[in-house]
Amino acid sequence: MAVLNVISVSRHRLTTDGNGVTTLVALAGCPLKCEYCINKDVLSAHKSVPCPPEKLLEKAMIDYCYFASTGGGITFGGGEPLLHSEALVEFMAIKPDDVSVVLETSLNHDAETVAKVLDGANELIIDIKSMNPAIYRKYTGLDNTNTLHWLKYIIDNGLQNKCTIKVPNIPKYTQKEDIEASVETLKDMGFTKINVFDYLVKE
Ligand code: SF4
Repeated sequence: MAVLNVISVSRHRLTTDGNGVTTLVALAGCPLKCEYCINKDVLSAHKSVPCPPEKLLEKAMIDYCYFASTGGGITFGGGEPLLHSEALVEFMAIKPDDVSVVLETSLNHDAETVAKVLDGANELIIDIKSMNPAIYRKYTGLDNTNTLHWLKYIIDNGLQNKCTIKVPNIPKYTQKEDIEASVETLKDMGFTKINVFDYLVKE
């Protein structure tokens, strides 16, 4: 059985990580090495607590009334939740229908189970960093082949309406033209909910 490596659980969040009242579960590990990562704690599995999906659901269900009455549920972030795809598939199979699952992801992971997670999640909040492969690599240390693959999968399978795509303005890495080019590429692909924002970097 797969386990979720949990860094932290934050309850009673309101409209910050999806609809309604949510519980944010930060999962350990991330393949990227973003220069301005504000979650460096989550990059290490050593600081996490292994938790089977049914145990996590049992804990989260304390707030079932809030979820059901507001359209909320569990938001998985991190780190990169897709590293836990197998356990997430198990979690989604046992959760009640009226508890939503939201994923905050960069989509930069390649595994067979990723498609099942993308199919099953109620909402996807996707930080694409940049659609420019050179900027992406420079900022994260990795190429964006997986991200592009899963963005295409989402479009090909008609899942785009549950996606919000985040396009950050990254100090020292992106210019206005880069942001505009990313947004145009995403629109051409068929995405409509695109959120451009500034990374706030503490000097
Ligand atoms: S994707 Fe998120 S968690 Fe991973 S390195 Fe970048 S900012 Fe940090």
